[in-house]
Amino acid sequence: MEKKQVIWVIIEQVQGKTAAVSLEVLGKACQLAAEAANAQVVAVALGSAIGPLAQQLPKHGADKVFLVDDPRLELYQNDTYSSVLRRLIERERPDVVLIGASASGEELAPTLAAQLGTGLAAHCTNLRLAADGTLTMLVPAFGGQVIGEIFCPVQRPQMATIKPGVFSPVGLAERTGEIVQEDGASLLYDAEIRLRATRLVVEEPPGMPIEQADVIVAGGWGIGSRENWRLLEELAKEFNGAVGCTRPALDQGWTGGEHTMIGSSGKTVRPKLYLGAGISGAAHHMVGIKDSGVIISVNRDKTAPIFQFSDYCVAADFRDVLPELLAQIRRAKH
Ligand SMILES: Cc1cc2nc3c(=O)[nH]c(=O)nc-3n(C[C@H](O)[C@H](O)[C@H](O)COP(=O)(O)OP(=O)(O)OC[C@H]3O[C@@H](n4cnc5c(N)ncnc54)[C@H](O)[C@@H]3O)c2cc1C
Repeated sequence: MEKKQVIWVIIEQVQGKTAAVSLEVLGKACQLAAEAANAQVVAVALGSAIGPLAQQLPKHGADKVFLVDDPRLELYQNDTYSSVLRRLIERERPDVVLIGASASGEELAPTLAAQLGTGLAAHCTNLRLAADGTLTMLVPAFGGQVIGEIFCPVQRPQMATIKPGVFSPVGLAERTGEIVQEDGASLLYDAEIRLRATRLVVEEPPGMPIEQADVIVAGGWGIGSRENWRLLEELAKEFNGAVGCTRPALDQGWTGGEHTMIGSSGKTVRPKLYLGAGISGAAHHMVGIKDSGVIISVNRDKTAPIFQFSDYCVAADFRDVLPELLAQIRRAKH
């Protein structure tokens, strides 16, 4: 019988709340475990006073939870978190370690991989686990036109960061799992702590997070000005949705900020409705919207590549279409 594969998911938490991406990665780990038939999913949670959070993790797919509850781990810090995780990994020797590709995950994962002397595939959009324990880590390359398959054949653990918004969490209401309380003192020594974070300042961007919106009205370079951009904002408001953008629109400063950019270096979104205007359909952008429900695009160039991916194509100047659409929606509402 093949050796049992152990898949670790490092849980990110802020103020005792599990990051959405960690639950998404747990969901994917469950799927991998089911595919490999003989695998165990282990969640690893670091923080301070996070017992209640750890108790919830089996409901999201963890067979077992390692909980390191220590006041020194209240706020994420690269040196403290990597020290604790390195010691745990060296002791437990998991086969696979998965981390969400959030701002802190993107820092923590390469630090850990370097300390452990193993490889890391960053920003994966899919994973496969074979029964022999080989993890295939899939990463879009050349703007999503090619999917690279990355392997870590020799070193262990096999490590990957996972792009947020790609996988769905699982909810297994009645499920329980083993919670292993670790002793922080034996995993982290005060002498190793070079920096101390004293407080956390959370700056939430205004408006609905683009990953959660059912409707996204997205604009690109073709929108032409900040003034025209307001039309997209008004439309998104009528739909109770969010505004997304391409890289050129972000660079022009028309948009709400980096958090609204969609694509290979931005967000992956899955709205029920994506309405794109003045967007050509470059692969870098399209890779972020490919799982949307209905795609409607407005482009004055009837050969624009975005039309190949759209359910409804409007070959027209957006200035002739969107104001009328806005007016009709408002009329219908009132
Ligand atoms: C490494 C790398 C990573 C990248 N990552 C991303 C990413 O994550 N997300 C992203 O979006 N881009 C990304 N890019 C940029 C990407 O390659 C494209 O350049 C970009 O997506 C194009 O944006 P756009 O469609 O707004 O502009 P354009 O390609 O210039 O298209 C503008 C479109 O607007 C249409 N148009 C013009 N006027 C009107 C009008 N009045 N009415 C209707 N239509 C009109 C035109 O016909 C045209 O099709 C990346 C690039 C690189 C090199």
